[in-house]
Amino acid sequence: MVAKKNVLPKFIFVVGGVMSSVGKGVTAASIGKILQARGYRTANIKADMYVNMDAGTIRPAEHGEVFVGEDGIEADQDLGNYERFTDQISTRENYITTGQVYAEVIRKERNLEYEGEDVEVYPDIPKEIIRRIVSCQKKNNAEITVVEYGGTVGEYQLFPFLEATRMMKSKNPEDVCVVLVSYLPTPALLGEQKSKPTQRAVNDLHSVGLNPDFVICRAERPATSDIKRTISNVCSLPVDRIISAPDVYSIYDVPVSFEKEKLSDTLLFTLGLAPKTKNLKEWTALSKKIKRAKKEVVIGVVGKYFNFKSVKDTYISVIESINHAVWQLGKKPKMLWLDSERYERDPKLLKELDNVQGIVVPGGFGSRGVEGIIAVIKYAREKKIPYFGLCYGMQLATVEFARHVARLEGANTTEINPKTPHPVIDFMVEQKANVTEKKYGGTMRLGAYPASLKKGTIAREAYGVPRISERHRHRYEVNPKYIERMEKKGLVFSGISPDRRLMEIVELPKDKHPFFVGVQFHPEFKSRPLKPHPLFREFIKATLKQSK
Ligand code: GLN
Repeated sequence: MVAKKNVLPKFIFVVGGVMSSVGKGVTAASIGKILQARGYRTANIKADMYVNMDAGTIRPAEHGEVFVGEDGIEADQDLGNYERFTDQISTRENYITTGQVYAEVIRKERNLEYEGEDVEVYPDIPKEIIRRIVSCQKKNNAEITVVEYGGTVGEYQLFPFLEATRMMKSKNPEDVCVVLVSYLPTPALLGEQKSKPTQRAVNDLHSVGLNPDFVICRAERPATSDIKRTISNVCSLPVDRIISAPDVYSIYDVPVSFEKEKLSDTLLFTLGLAPKTKNLKEWTALSKKIKRAKKEVVIGVVGKYFNFKSVKDTYISVIESINHAVWQLGKKPKMLWLDSERYERDPKLLKELDNVQGIVVPGGFGSRGVEGIIAVIKYAREKKIPYFGLCYGMQLATVEFARHVARLEGANTTEINPKTPHPVIDFMVEQKANVTEKKYGGTMRLGAYPASLKKGTIAREAYGVPRISERHRHRYEVNPKYIERMEKKGLVFSGISPDRRLMEIVELPKDKHPFFVGVQFHPEFKSRPLKPHPLFREFIKATLKQSK
């Protein structure tokens, strides 16, 4: 194929049709990936329709994980997919919400920046959306920017965003491309794929002045050629722009599956660009390796948020980090979701932990199930089951150690018991005021902070460097008053903030326990399929060694 024209930058909008939760985020991430593999600099943006300023105040049990960017933005979980697929760092420019857009327009209005004009939903809101998209493109110096819209076409809240796309496209039709991610149901009664819901979604796009340039057909099975032809007719598109996207073994197959449909070639052609390279080899090899792995590694994830519809979304980065490490070691991950409240009701159930090879306690807030988690940590410590605590999991490991090893009776975090005689985990100094004054949004210790690692520790050996940077999201910390007492009893503070104020990693020496590590940060945000996080890698290694 010959490229028509070569003007940069380009923008690809990914919108959903028919229904949500069919993999729009993975589609947008995969489009970023395959274009990168053809030699282009890309950036991914997520735009959410809600009025919240960010995802930091939203319940993860219902809306999925809060993903934290380098600069501390609390964003939708899709930014995690983008980072895992494209290995590009996200910051606040990669995340747009209706709330941010309105807040900025109102700020400008108060500053007389509209110079006496009245401010209107149209065109001032779409204009601000465009300004944000372009500013992310500029910051990343991206040649192609992939913008994913939350929700599905036809939703009232999406109109200003679709209007922004229409405005951009009518100005530069060659530089803007719309990808509709749709769903093809196969009613059991009929046993065949139906395209009617997708046709309705296309109509919805038409009604706001947009025609899709591509339709990605999500379905259990590949789209039939009949269906492709029908959809291509409705959209007046060549049939090679209708892309089959059947269910795959793992999400990391999606870029490979797209390339079987020649998506990057057709996308670049549509945008008037020529492919520069072809470089999806390592990725394709990984997707094969994932399928080949047979021997299971059983990891127990212990927490309180498990009796709801989708643990998968709530803990997506933790799950993926475990996956990456297990796959690299040629094994197949199996996670058991263990509700810690059960151990409070019946401590005998702790015995079931003998069937897991390692235990992870992820981040969390509040008191529900906490005593059960502490009981699990005690069990893991005494029975020498590899243990990895993430944020809350680190704080509660410290509480467990304080109570049962350092003999600080009633030790606790003040998040649970403000009157504890031994507040081994306490508010960070600057945090108390935030909570008393109800300043909750965006006020935790957020984003990337450096830490120095102590020589000869598990952490130092895993990372292989003396200084690291990891992302945080918390209000509490190890109380400095208790450090010396706990150190004397054998707890090692192996990662410390450079000002030596904050304890970032705790661990037990290797001769005492095969792997007992807790981190105040969230390593799960930085694991990549081709570059598992060093601590997850060492944790999984320890589980394999232990079960031999
Ligand atoms: N609730 C704890 C804190 O605020 C831990 C937070 C977390 O696990 N992300 O410090």
